[in-house]
Amino acid sequence: MSRRLAQGFEGDAPRESASVTAVIAFGSNLGDRATIFAEAADDLRRMPLTSDVRVAPAIESVAIRVEGPDADAPAYLNTVALIATRLAPSILMSYLHAIEDRHGRERREQWGDRTLDLDLIAYGNRQIRTRRLTVPHPRAAERAFVLDPWLALDPDAELPGLGRVAELRAAIEDPS
Ligand code: ADP
Ligand code: MG
Repeated sequence: MSRRLAQGFEGDAPRESASVTAVIAFGSNLGDRATIFAEAADDLRRMPLTSDVRVAPAIESVAIRVEGPDADAPAYLNTVALIATRLAPSILMSYLHAIEDRHGRERREQWGDRTLDLDLIAYGNRQIRTRRLTVPHPRAAERAFVLDPWLALDPDAELPGLGRVAELRAAIEDPS
């Protein structure tokens, strides 16, 4: 068997038929944030091979710039969705980018203001590192605005390779 085929069989291919729970973080600090979230959740529900989309109550958080927290920037609304999906991770990420685009996402500066950011926080218990995708999301464990809504949906959640989300959350310094 060629290396490429072997990778296919050992990699994504067989797992595409099994449904996994994926964790998606939403962030928005421009426009009608709550309406954007509701529409983006419906977009997730319309994705193929996907069911059981559950969205946590949204929370407000201060904008984080490259230089640090910025209380003068428009505040964020954040939430997390859990979905059951049979989409491969790279395909799921392409859908997330398309949903961001549909809601007017512009990419001008790192961590700049945005109508909608959708990050893939976890994909089952997989650990993925490609040019386009790192899963679990490398900054998830230090972001209360990701861990809190996730815990609201699943108090027993685990971040693959890092441990229980409740313990990771307890280790974060709360600026308030
Ligand atoms: P950020 O979310 O850090 O503010 P962007 O949304 O602009 O930044 O994403 C920057 C890049 O990060 C995207 O091109 C995307 O392909 C990549 N990326 C890598 N891993 C992930 C992930 N787990 N979730 C979302 N984007 C990711
Ligand atoms: Mg993003």
